[in-house]
Amino acid sequence: MKADPIIIVGAGPTGLATALALGLEGASVVVLEAEPALTIDLRAGSYHPPTVEMLDGLGVAKTMHESGIVVPSWQIRDREAGVVAEFDMSLLKDVTRFPYRLHLEQHRLTPILLDRIRKAAPTVEVRFASPVAGYDQDADGVDVRLEDGSALRGSFLIGADGARSVVRRGMQVGFEGFTWPDRFLVASTSHDLGAHGFSGAGYIADPTHWAAVFHVPDDGPPGLWRIAYPIQAEEDEAEVLEPEAIQDRLKLVLAGNVAAPVGGYPLKYASIYKVHQRVADRFAVGRTVLVGDAAHLNNPLGGLGLNGGIHDAVNLAGKLAPIWREGSDHQQAFDLYDRQRRPVNIKAVQAMSIRNKRILEERDPAVRRQHLHELGATAADPVKAKAYLMESSMINSVRDAAQVH
Ligand SMILES: Cc1cc2nc3c(=O)[nH]c(=O)nc-3n(C[C@H](O)[C@H](O)[C@H](O)COP(=O)(O)OP(=O)(O)OC[C@H]3O[C@@H](n4cnc5c(N)ncnc54)[C@H](O)[C@@H]3O)c2cc1C
Repeated sequence: MKADPIIIVGAGPTGLATALALGLEGASVVVLEAEPALTIDLRAGSYHPPTVEMLDGLGVAKTMHESGIVVPSWQIRDREAGVVAEFDMSLLKDVTRFPYRLHLEQHRLTPILLDRIRKAAPTVEVRFASPVAGYDQDADGVDVRLEDGSALRGSFLIGADGARSVVRRGMQVGFEGFTWPDRFLVASTSHDLGAHGFSGAGYIADPTHWAAVFHVPDDGPPGLWRIAYPIQAEEDEAEVLEPEAIQDRLKLVLAGNVAAPVGGYPLKYASIYKVHQRVADRFAVGRTVLVGDAAHLNNPLGGLGLNGGIHDAVNLAGKLAPIWREGSDHQQAFDLYDRQRRPVNIKAVQAMSIRNKRILEERDPAVRRQHLHELGATAADPVKAKAYLMESSMINSVRDAAQVH
């Protein structure tokens, strides 16, 4: 008898990558997405080498390179003093085929994934305008309820439904951690920061006006520069999103690094995000399992969140596809998935993203100087820089997970 499909809730980048990876292995998959179409999401845009390798394995890296930006080095800057460290990613050339960061907005990745699903994975069906309300599971499968009152039976249920995951809530697992009091405002300008010496990825340290600066492709060359900076808890969202308020803040944030253009920074997008550090207590319960933001959330400093989601997707699909095909027991594989992906998230992704934020916003001038000096010394020493890049580019975390049996 043919097995019921694997149901995935959420057609964000993680859900689509999971569906594609399962579909390429012949599994039957139904993706249920609440929205009527793929969303335009300004969040992720930076992919680390192991993630590009995995996306290459799914057959989409070539297309990503056609519109993406290759970023061969990334910088740490002091808001007043300029560049204090520049990490050369070519130091990783003997450990990866992609020794750079690849930049492409996540809303440009999702159509590439969907297109590949449609061309190469005919067993995958993606249904839009299909919000999931809840589900019940038994020993043999999962009954998923949609908001329109219809239902669908699946052999397994994967929650790729983001921060407020319905699947995670149904699993009744904790989502421990915290929410930062400050939010992130992300503004995009067409003003070419590359002409001011910015490499495609950079972080500006300052006790108040720290920032992350990223070059993203937008509709094509010359692309856009995305600047993410903090909004304090007491600041009003409508006020800080006023174009003049953004201009004033950009001038402050970029002050020591860029002379503001006459007439101000030409702006294209601006949005505000709440930022959390949370990891689900368990990634799998019975026949339900979590991937991506449904399983873990972190601040965007270091570009780790979606990268981790893609790592979940490929790891899980590699285990689940043969189980679905052969009808074998899933328990051991789900336990292993949890042991491989959860601790990595806590030890590597949570620790790194929290550390990155603390370093950028350090208030004590002596500690700040010390941090920046150490980063400069690390970047200048090829051996230390390579070791640092192995960590920050998530190569170690993928290798560590693979060692867990
Ligand atoms: C400012 C910012 C910058 C970032 N930059 C980076 C970066 O450079 N690199 C990086 O790796 N990460 C980055 N991240 C994190 C990254 O954006 C997320 O990790 C990523 O979007 C997670 O993808 P996902 O598919 O798991 O979840 P989501 O993108 O949230 O997708 C979830 C999907 O599920 C759907 N859904 C939700 N509920 C239901 C339901 N009940 N029924 C059906 N569908 C449902 C939603 O509509 C959505 O399409 C950044 C985050 C922020 C805030």
